[in-house]
Amino acid sequence: VAGYSAPVFSRAQVYRDKLAIVDDSGSHSYRDLYGSSRGLAGRIKAALDCPSGDLQGKRISFLCANDASYTVAQWASWMCGGTAVPLYREHPPSELEYIISDSQSSLLVAGQPYADTMEPLAHRLGLPYLQLPPTSSLSSLLEAPENQPEPGITDWAQRPAMIIYTSGTTGRPKGVLHTHSNIQAMVQGLVSEWGWSRDDVILHTLPLHHVHGIVNKLLCPLWVGATTVMLPTFQPQKVWEVLLSSKAPMVTVFMAVPTIYSKLIRHYEQHFTQPRVQDFVRAACKERIRLMVSGSSALPQPTLLRWEEITGHTLLERYGMTEIGMALSNPLKGPRIPGTHTHTPLTTTIFLLFTVVCVCVCVCVCVGAVGVPLPGVEVRIVMTNATSTTIAEGNSRETQVRPGLEGKEGELMVRGDQVFTEYWNKPEATRESFTEDGWFKTGDTAVYKNGVYWIMGRTSVDIIKSGGYKISALEVERHLLAHPDITDVAVIGARDATWGQKVTAVVQLKRGQSMTLSELKTWAREHMAPYTIPTGLVLVEEMPRNQMGKVNKKDLLKHFFPS
Ligand code: ATP
Ligand code: MG
Repeated sequence: VAGYSAPVFSRAQVYRDKLAIVDDSGSHSYRDLYGSSRGLAGRIKAALDCPSGDLQGKRISFLCANDASYTVAQWASWMCGGTAVPLYREHPPSELEYIISDSQSSLLVAGQPYADTMEPLAHRLGLPYLQLPPTSSLSSLLEAPENQPEPGITDWAQRPAMIIYTSGTTGRPKGVLHTHSNIQAMVQGLVSEWGWSRDDVILHTLPLHHVHGIVNKLLCPLWVGATTVMLPTFQPQKVWEVLLSSKAPMVTVFMAVPTIYSKLIRHYEQHFTQPRVQDFVRAACKERIRLMVSGSSALPQPTLLRWEEITGHTLLERYGMTEIGMALSNPLKGPRIPGTHTHTPLTTTIFLLFTVVCVCVCVCVCVGAVGVPLPGVEVRIVMTNATSTTIAEGNSRETQVRPGLEGKEGELMVRGDQVFTEYWNKPEATRESFTEDGWFKTGDTAVYKNGVYWIMGRTSVDIIKSGGYKISALEVERHLLAHPDITDVAVIGARDATWGQKVTAVVQLKRGQSMTLSELKTWAREHMAPYTIPTGLVLVEEMPRNQMGKVNKKDLLKHFFPS
């Protein structure tokens, strides 16, 4: 593969004593990580009865805490030539078993806290099992037979490196296979676009079984020789503490999903009430942190605006998927379009600009702007009708729009070295997800307008067809989040005999508030286009979101509208 250099772990030999990971157990240099990984690689080979060989074609599932042991398990799987399959502690045993079996893993590795979960699983599945020492003594792995020669692998680029399972928002999670070359392309695009350097320090709080946590927040810093501060779990107070701490290593980069930003905002509102403290928070964030990113699901406008007030940072929103890594991103420098997108005609807008109403409209009427393609990524928006006409096509430098089709919706398709190789063991699904000329069909609906791409949502669950209109659930959600009593909302299309689908809002209210459908409609008439106003309302105590902050809308529909 042109331009391919080497697997991520091999760069550790360049960074040596530079601080790679700081976690609850202490500090780990690149040299430590490399040595422990080699030690573990030796043990893996021995456990699979392949002491000096190459584990090409073998998959190794591992469950580790959010700390240095994760990287050691991942690098060790790679060093022996095998494929890493990361598991996640929040998965119930049945889900872990599904992933281990579906990926046909040959061996299980468990970080110390997960021995009780993994050992019985290995027993039941008849698989060899290795338990890691506590993260504070990872170096004890060095005693293993690590002096065995590496198998002399030369075909890294095409080698399967990782199988990452999708979040399962639209069905059973699928195993997405990335080669080392796919990973390098994902990492390099982000490193150059977001200005990563070895002086960076990132605070890591996300699960480590999705590209967001694995690639954006861990492999990027490891690639450039930066430092990753890992917290075992997400706790708002702890995150604030680390973000605001002046102790070295001081955080320069933060990335999270929208739900995390809203939880941090909630904590701020409850605990940082004094103006003096608020001034300190803003000054500290502004001075020390150079980049704050949001992604994995649509960023609600109120979250973006409040975060900006609190920290002085305009969140950089980007769009990506397990299958393609990151594809579209707002710019590091220059204006980030904060998802504010009025559909109002120009003359009306000019008039409204001088009225309070306009402020509301500008703030509320929006879909998510996610910038332009990252370096190395090509995208297309294609009509999903029989003609498959390309509406827009572009790369990081420019986008061409077919005359007359500016602003038309279509399916987003992606091509480039970072695009995955296959859905593991699902040749049919793989075939169906690519066009004949090699474009990956994301299943997301997008628009290209005003020089940037906008995500309207998943075609299957977020694009609601009601009475002949196509309505973006994400757009309705963004409107509804501006309602003062609503804290969280998911909009779904409930089946309806008359309308095809009914725009239905599943709403979590602020504590102590109440709401009827007719009250919601009255409010909505002031703020939303008539055909987008919800005609169904379901109130929930707590929105069911997964660890990545995503709502499974198919489950919501099944639960509230079983047919
Ligand atoms: P599954 O494929 O199993 O149904 P999933 O698609 O949720 O699950 P992921 O690969 O984790 O699994 O998520 C990718 C999806 O997340 C995208 O297809 C898109 O719908 C959504 N997404 C990511 N970033 C954004 C964003 N900035 N705005 C809106 N949606 C986003
Ligand atoms: Mg998906």
